[in-house]
Amino acid sequence: MVGPSVGAARKVVVPTAQSSQEQSFDVVVVGGGPGGYAAALYGGRKGLRVALVEKDKVGGTCLHRGCIPAKELLETAAVYRTVKGAKEFGVGVEGVTVDFSATQVRKRKVIDTQHKGLQGLLKKCKVTTFAGTGSLQPGRVVRVEAADGSVTEVTAPAVLLAAGSVPRTIPGFEVDGRFVLTSDEVLDMERLPATAAVIGGGAIGCEFASMLSDMGVKVTVLEALPSILPGVDKDVTAVVVKSFAKRGIDIKTGVRVQGHEPAADGASTAVRYSSPQGGEEAVVVEAVVVSVGRRPYSDNLVAPGCGVEVDERGFVKVDDLLQTSAEGVWAIGDLVATPGLAHVGFAEAMVVVDQLLGKDPVPVDYDKVPWCVYTFPEVAFAGLSEDAAREAGYDVVTKKDPFVGNGRAAIIGETEGVVKLIAEKLPDGRAGRILGVHMAGPWVTEQLGQGYLAVNWEATADEVAQFVQPHPSLSEVFGETMLALAGRGLHVG
Ligand code: NAD
Repeated sequence: MVGPSVGAARKVVVPTAQSSQEQSFDVVVVGGGPGGYAAALYGGRKGLRVALVEKDKVGGTCLHRGCIPAKELLETAAVYRTVKGAKEFGVGVEGVTVDFSATQVRKRKVIDTQHKGLQGLLKKCKVTTFAGTGSLQPGRVVRVEAADGSVTEVTAPAVLLAAGSVPRTIPGFEVDGRFVLTSDEVLDMERLPATAAVIGGGAIGCEFASMLSDMGVKVTVLEALPSILPGVDKDVTAVVVKSFAKRGIDIKTGVRVQGHEPAADGASTAVRYSSPQGGEEAVVVEAVVVSVGRRPYSDNLVAPGCGVEVDERGFVKVDDLLQTSAEGVWAIGDLVATPGLAHVGFAEAMVVVDQLLGKDPVPVDYDKVPWCVYTFPEVAFAGLSEDAAREAGYDVVTKKDPFVGNGRAAIIGETEGVVKLIAEKLPDGRAGRILGVHMAGPWVTEQLGQGYLAVNWEATADEVAQFVQPHPSLSEVFGETMLALAGRGLHVG
């Protein structure tokens, strides 16, 4: 236990400056995104009196400007691709088009449904929501400033900071409402550009590149590193690179973007970048999507004198149980330097609330969380890539099997992809503990489950190879690769 449990902490003397506006709770959560609302729901269900402070809408980036809208637009791209390919199945369709404003209406409907559901859940869990911008003051007081300027002070023996993150921008590419967009603007576009440059080939950049390209936009990806999708196993990245190239997405790696100059007619802009060879080149596009990462939204979150340390990049410093340097103050989600994933925020929320309940939770094992990228083809992985395992000093055995021979993949007409397994090498040369499961291909984001369990249960190849996969199914590729790793492969040796 790092901080006080609420039971014990209720005895902590709350600040003396009680104003008529002040209200007290067991825990005050600042930020209603996946981290904050998960903490509020779990705390509320466990009987804690929870205050949740949110300046915009509960659901946060994930629901309103991130995961949910992005995947909805990617699904439109998938439907368009499927319908265009229907003829191969003998299904006749003529004049297939995309009405992007109609997909925006559908996207908003999906968000609204989820938003209403979440508001209902918070109510059911008796969470008190405060609309306004929260900032931590000394003595675990959270000052909530509403849009009309009125101020309420909320106090609790425990404060959880979960203010999230905002898109990073780069000099020379300031968001201008015309050419330069971040994820916030792309997700709200009413009309598709004919051409786009995507700066940054991480998860967000690749998802947008995939979606825009499938909708008919000519896309160029400009990535500073030698490869797109940093951190993903190289054999998995290779599948995405090949598929992107086949669909006409131009990937330029090792480049440095310099700036952009709009054309005189205001219809396009030239994005200048230096090539790895050193020469300067330009690509002329109608839109520039900046997806170079997100930064923690810690601006004005903590008043001086609270004792909460923030690092030079703006991340709130925490220990492995998410306790900040101030007693009774925790921080989670994109605000701390852990993987910027909604489900990591959920897991962290539960670790914090369990401490408030006097339990002894296990810290999140960040090296083994699931990662899913919803490009076409999809990417999913848990645990170490082959290179990362070798860099960590492991002697490894690997096996990979492509989706191309799989019956279900052939049936659905999506045979691009691979499953790659990385295991620790035993003294006799056989595969032991599974260190990583990395996949690209159809619906791998929904198939990762058993790979995730294998890695986190520290199961061996022999153990997992015992399990039978349903036939015909895409998951047979995982099963077959595991059999091969255990020395009993039918398709691969
Ligand atoms: P990222 O850090 O994953 O990728 C950013 C990419 O931009 C990197 O490849 C980096 O090398 C490149 N880059 C940085 N500066 C550049 C420059 N000046 N020129 C060219 N390239 C440059 O960030 P992201 O893709 O923006 O995602 C932000 C966060 O959101 C991450 O934490 C990510 O994990 C999370 N996210 C995850 C998913 C998913 O898992 N499906 C989807 C969306 C967002």
